[in-house]
Amino acid sequence: MYDTIIIGAGPAGLTAAIYGKNARKNILVLEKETYGGQILKADKIKNYPGFNEISGYEFATKLYNQVKELGCEINFEEVIEIKNNNEFKEIITKKNTYKTKSIIIATGAENRKLGLPNEDELLGKGISYCATCDGMLFKDKVVAITGGGNTAIDDALYLSNIVKKIYVIYRQKEFRIDSINLDKLKNKDNVEFILNSNITMVNGNKILESVTVKENDTNIEKVINLDGLFIAIGHIPVSGMCKNIVQTDDKGYIIAGEECKTNIDGIFVAGDIRVKGIRQLTTACSDGTVAMLNACKYLTQKKH
Ligand SMILES: Cc1cc2nc3c(=O)[nH]c(=O)nc-3n(C[C@H](O)[C@H](O)[C@H](O)COP(=O)(O)OP(=O)(O)OC[C@H]3O[C@@H](n4cnc5c(N)ncnc54)[C@H](O)[C@@H]3O)c2cc1C
Repeated sequence: MYDTIIIGAGPAGLTAAIYGKNARKNILVLEKETYGGQILKADKIKNYPGFNEISGYEFATKLYNQVKELGCEINFEEVIEIKNNNEFKEIITKKNTYKTKSIIIATGAENRKLGLPNEDELLGKGISYCATCDGMLFKDKVVAITGGGNTAIDDALYLSNIVKKIYVIYRQKEFRIDSINLDKLKNKDNVEFILNSNITMVNGNKILESVTVKENDTNIEKVINLDGLFIAIGHIPVSGMCKNIVQTDDKGYIIAGEECKTNIDGIFVAGDIRVKGIRQLTTACSDGTVAMLNACKYLTQKKH
């Protein structure tokens, strides 16, 4: 029986693991893909205290090594269900069932997809969700980005310095953000805005060749030939495996206050998956700290 099982080896989960191991708890981290979470995709991090600049990969690797050096067990298995049996909790993965006294859910968020046929097939073959990771693959080529938030605009500006031409495709008639980068983007010669329009098809057999774009008011469709499509339409919380047990909001983010306690005694939540206003590395790590220290208090109070 573990003291705490942490689901997710992103910044929140790994920070929780550090605090758990320092408190001499018996901890298991379960991760469905690789360590690091979303930050692995960051080209450069420039806002984490103590580092002027560090790549996402280097940051994630340092964090992972720190946790491993503390002797923490990390298994690469996807959690598919959580059960609460009052005295203990069960975590079911695709391979095993684990018993634990407490749980920290730190499953973060994933890229929102357009939901079009062919989108998954063309991922990595012209379609990308990460401009900083894949932008250089499209040097001097023609690309499009879809989305209208800060991420889409920042990514579009970044890409405009690499590619021959970029289309910015957005479903609204106007951008609703206040961004210096939007002003910069509007002054670029190689940027074309296609507003009030949606991508209705991504076309190509083994590689992306074009997108079909429909204008909302007129329903007129046009095909744009391009080499790359960047999808930047936000994130969705990864809470499917625990929705039956913990309370979430209507989007699927787990409801908990600053103490990171869910509605279930002994189940805590940390990082981007929690209902909150700001989702950043620092806030994810902060949650990991709070969740683990409160899990320690729970273990003491219950005299587990
Ligand atoms: C491209 C990019 C650049 C960014 N740059 C910055 C930056 O410069 N500065 C900054 O402060 N923030 C940045 N962020 C945001 C930052 O990465 C996130 O706020 C942070 O990673 C959230 O950490 P987390 O641990 O809560 O979740 P995540 O990083 O999403 O990690 C969650 C982990 O849980 C795992 N998981 C999910 N479901 C399961 C399951 N069922 N079983 C087991 N494991 C599971 C996932 O595989 C993942 O590894 C960036 C994000 C992106 C996408």
